[in-house]
Amino acid sequence: MEQVTVVGAGLAGCEATWQLVKRNIPVRLIEMRPKKESPAFHTDRFAELVCSNSLRSNAMNNAVGILKEELRQMDSLIMKSADMHAVPAGSALAVDRETFSQYITDTIKNHPLVEVVNEEMTVLPEGPCIIATGPLTSDSLAKAIHDFTSEDTFHFYDAAAPIIEKDSIDFSKAYYKSRYDKGEASYINCPMNADEFEVFYDALIHAECVNLHDFEKETYFEGCMPIEEMARRGKKTMLFGPLKPVGLEKDKDSHPVAVVQLRQDNVAASMYNIVGFQTHLTWPEQRRVFSLIPGLENLKITRYGVMHRNSYLSSPIVLKETYQSKKRDDLFFAGQLTGVEGYVESCASGLIAGINMSLYMQGKEPICFGNTCVMGSQAYYITHCDPKHFQPMNANFGIMHLNEKCKKHERKEKFAAQALSRIQEIQEQVNG
Ligand code: FAD
Repeated sequence: MEQVTVVGAGLAGCEATWQLVKRNIPVRLIEMRPKKESPAFHTDRFAELVCSNSLRSNAMNNAVGILKEELRQMDSLIMKSADMHAVPAGSALAVDRETFSQYITDTIKNHPLVEVVNEEMTVLPEGPCIIATGPLTSDSLAKAIHDFTSEDTFHFYDAAAPIIEKDSIDFSKAYYKSRYDKGEASYINCPMNADEFEVFYDALIHAECVNLHDFEKETYFEGCMPIEEMARRGKKTMLFGPLKPVGLEKDKDSHPVAVVQLRQDNVAASMYNIVGFQTHLTWPEQRRVFSLIPGLENLKITRYGVMHRNSYLSSPIVLKETYQSKKRDDLFFAGQLTGVEGYVESCASGLIAGINMSLYMQGKEPICFGNTCVMGSQAYYITHCDPKHFQPMNANFGIMHLNEKCKKHERKEKFAAQALSRIQEIQEQVNG
């Protein structure tokens, strides 16, 4: 069987590769790191998580929780590794980022049907190909895509939160607790009284940012807004977001006005990330401002928050719902580059692109998963949205279609049942 070229060994590229080799289709996987560095990445591992170590909710009353279950049913490599390398995070699925990526790297690199090529792809390859080069697609390839599609790609700005050493936290002020004491008390909480919040707020909105003047037309993706930008939108905005104190009081006598939460980042529980603190403050400013948080006065940052421009295609114009290019049936795109947003979502689009490429290679019709399951609803959304208002989108019930009418309180349960039954149908169709 002819080799398929997959460009980019990120979450989407690795999942697509896995779905292909599982179906006996050989893959040439092209990855530019570590030969050419990419700004948000820190290692040469495949499927590196560039920011948070959380894959978000694992619950079946949440669209991204259902999406994970859909992926598990379809034998996703990314989900397998996530489940194997989970760390405590309440109802969310968070992972040890190093072992998570290492397992995926080893599985892909050691597979007999995979040839790994370590180079930057600067043109669109001839022959069957999946482009999964992510939001930080290198400039030369981005230009080649632009020339091919004759459409502008879009951009937004995205930021990563800092990670700190647990040993540097002052536990005379910080404490473990989960919101409303639900599930395991796996988060570390740093409470602030009104005066402490005032000081922190003031420092945050006046802190120096990296290259602020370069961002002439700043547009932030609402789901991953830098903390300082959120603060600038109003003093109370953070209190309804990452600093929400309700349900996190240490005891019945304490009434913090704000609580900063830290989430475990590795299995050894020696590193914690500051939840929702994506930022583009300069590094010295991150040390100064975040040390104003009670309990973090002596914080040691092991990885600083960063901010990057993210690119995505004009998918409603250039892509089919199968993730195929409208201009070339043997060319697929997958991952965040297509306008799906998030780790799990990127992985899901890689899974669909991989399965559809395998069908294409067997001379069969690729499948539209449709908007009755979560992963299909993303593909539907990115290809049916009004191009003028197209923005990256996380998995959510708003872009899904529910086949039967039901009471409001039954909707989430119905969405879950419908999604899994659609996945079952697709599996029978693909494997049958
Ligand atoms: P990537 O994981 O970026 O993988 C693309 C791969 O392609 C990389 O390995 C890259 O080196 C390679 N590549 C690029 N160009 C070339 C080329 N020309 N030739 C060969 N190889 C190439 N999502 C979340 O759910 N939670 C978060 O906390 C989060 N934080 C983010 C923070 C930042 C700074 C950014 C940029 C994104 C963040 N995202 C987050 C969004 C998104 O989920 C991730 O970007 C995700 O990694 C996308 O997966 P992907 O497979 O599409 O691309």
